Amino acid sequence: MLNNYDNAFYERRRLLIESLRRRGNLSEEVLDAMLKLPREKFLDSSFHFRAYEDTALPIDANQTISQPYTVAYMTTLLDVKKGGKVLEIGTGSGYQACILALLGAKVYTIERIPELVEKARKVFKEFGLKINTRVGDGTIGWSEFAPYQGIIVTAAAPDVPDSLMEQLALGGRLVVPVGTKSYQSMYLIERKSEKDYNKSSTDSFKFVPLIGKEGWKTG
Ligand code: SAH
Repeated sequence: MLNNYDNAFYERRRLLIESLRRRGNLSEEVLDAMLKLPREKFLDSSFHFRAYEDTALPIDANQTISQPYTVAYMTTLLDVKKGGKVLEIGTGSGYQACILALLGAKVYTIERIPELVEKARKVFKEFGLKINTRVGDGTIGWSEFAPYQGIIVTAAAPDVPDSLMEQLALGGRLVVPVGTKSYQSMYLIERKSEKDYNKSSTDSFKFVPLIGKEGWKTG
């Protein structure tokens, strides 16, 4: 379990979380979850020494683990409720999914690259976190378990995928970076009723592309 990780990285992690807290507007609950989760466990050993820099870092298959500030920001926007169902598109290293699980969400996460899912599953198991994983195209969501109180897309979309809007519960929130391949705004979409959605956005983020039926056609 997580608490048994008493390691040399704790002090660096604490300093990173402190610096995020000073930026303001981030949920304390989210920052607490990030304080519990050892980010180096999601990285190759050659990157362990950089685990507590506030930057995105490379993982396998040319993908990245998101910047800690971005994880804190998106998770704050998502406003996860204990026991709520949350769908993540883009499992990557599995770090974001673990944060959602630590906040008490029932997590469903989809990744298109099988080797990343395999690795993430091992980490989930090591931490004793129950997270539902699937290899596939997340742009069309995961209809079997819909609707979701929260949907978080951790790759850059050209537009908001319709399927994800449809799979949002009433009162639910969808957080997705939308824009070009080199620059995105963060959209927060709240489902107010069957047909009404509120949309707000903030600049400026940089994600790897969301590739699929309702995403980019190629990387
Ligand atoms: N949330 C991750 C960050 C992953 S980077 C973390 O915490 O580490 C974005 C991921 O989205 C990449 O692994 C990429 O392969 C994946 N991705 C891109 N398009 C996708 C799609 N259509 N469906 C599922 N995953 C996708």
